[in-house]
Amino acid sequence: MKAAAFDYVRPREIAQVFALLEEYGDEARIIAGGQTLLATLNMRLSEPQLLIDIGALDALRGISVSGDHLRIGALVTHAQIEDSDLVRRHAPLLSEVAPHVAHRAIRNLGTFGGSIAFADPAAEWPTCLVALRGWVIVSGATGERRIHADDFFLDLYTTALQPGEVVLACEVPVATATSNHQFDELVRRHGDYAIVGAAVTGGMTANGLIENPRVVFLGTGNVPERAHAVEALLETTALTRDTAAQFADALDIDPAADLYHSAQTKLHLSRVVLKRLLHKFAEARIEVRHEGDQHA
Ligand SMILES: Cc1cc2nc3c(=O)[nH]c(=O)nc-3n(C[C@H](O)[C@H](O)[C@H](O)COP(=O)(O)OP(=O)(O)OC[C@H]3O[C@@H](n4cnc5c(N)ncnc54)[C@H](O)[C@@H]3O)c2cc1C
Repeated sequence: MKAAAFDYVRPREIAQVFALLEEYGDEARIIAGGQTLLATLNMRLSEPQLLIDIGALDALRGISVSGDHLRIGALVTHAQIEDSDLVRRHAPLLSEVAPHVAHRAIRNLGTFGGSIAFADPAAEWPTCLVALRGWVIVSGATGERRIHADDFFLDLYTTALQPGEVVLACEVPVATATSNHQFDELVRRHGDYAIVGAAVTGGMTANGLIENPRVVFLGTGNVPERAHAVEALLETTALTRDTAAQFADALDIDPAADLYHSAQTKLHLSRVVLKRLLHKFAEARIEVRHEGDQHA
C-alpha cells in the first residue's frame, strides 16, 4: 500500500514546529527518522494532513556531558549511539544495547527521540532509560519540562508528552566506578523486535548487596516493567551465583500474551533472561572483589 497524500514541511526553527502543531492539532505528525512512522503511513494506520520533519533542527542533535548527566539529543540516531566514545565511557549500557536495535540500515536513520516518543513496549531504549533513571526533556509552546523516565511511559504507545510537545533530548546519570549493568533479550532473528528482554543496573558493593538496583523488562507489558521483588532482594541479600537463580525464580511480573507466545511462555522466558543477567552480574561482582584483593 502507499501512504495517503500529505503536505510536508521541514522547519528550521523549533518555534515553527510548535506553531504548526498548534494550527494542525491531530492532523499533524512529527517525523524524525521515519523508521516507524513511514510504515504506519504506508499501511494507512495513520493519515495525517501534514508531516513536520524535525530533521533540520540542529538543537536536537548531539551527545554531550553536562555536569553528572549524559545528554542525548532527540535526533541522535541509534547508530551514532552505537559508535559514540562518549556514550561508551559514560553510559556503556546504551553502547551495548544499540546493536540489538533493528539492523544497521535502520539504526542509521532511526532516532533515540523517536523511539522514546513512540514508546513501543518491545523497544530497547525506553527500558534502558528507566533502568538508568533517566529523564526526558520535552518542549512545547508554553516552555520546557523535564520528565523522569519513571513518569514518562504511561501505557501502550502512550507517554506523558502533551499535544503540541516535542522530545528535545534525554539525559542519563553518568556511570560511576561502582556502576554495573547487564542487558540481554530473546529474539527469533537478530534485528527483530525482542520477545522479551531486560536490563539490570546497580552499584556494586564489597558485601554483595547491590545499591539502587533496577531490573526492567521489555516486551512483557505495555510499558517498561520493573521487577520490584527482585530489586528488593538485590538490595537486601548478597548476590552470588547461587542466589542469582533464586532471585530469578522470585520474578514478580505478570507478562501479557502476544500473538505468538502465551503469558506462561513469556514468564518462563523472562526468568531465563533474568537468570543469565544475574549470573553475569554476580560474575562481575566477583571480578571486582578479586581486583580489590589484588590491589590491597
Ligand atoms: C524492520 C524494523 C525493525 C525494527 N526493530 C526495532 C527494534 O528491534 N527495536 C527498536 O527499539 N526499534 C526497532 N525499530 C524501530 C526503529 O528503532 C525506529 O527508528 C524508532 O522506533 C523510531 O524512531 P524514528 O526516528 O524512526 O521515528 P519516526 O518513525 O520518525 O517517528 C516515530 C513516532 O515518534 C514521533 N516522534 C519522533 N520524534 C519525535 C520527537 N522528537 N518528539 C515527539 N515525537 C516524535 C513521531 O511523530 C511518530 O509518532 C524497527 C524498525 C523497523 C522498520
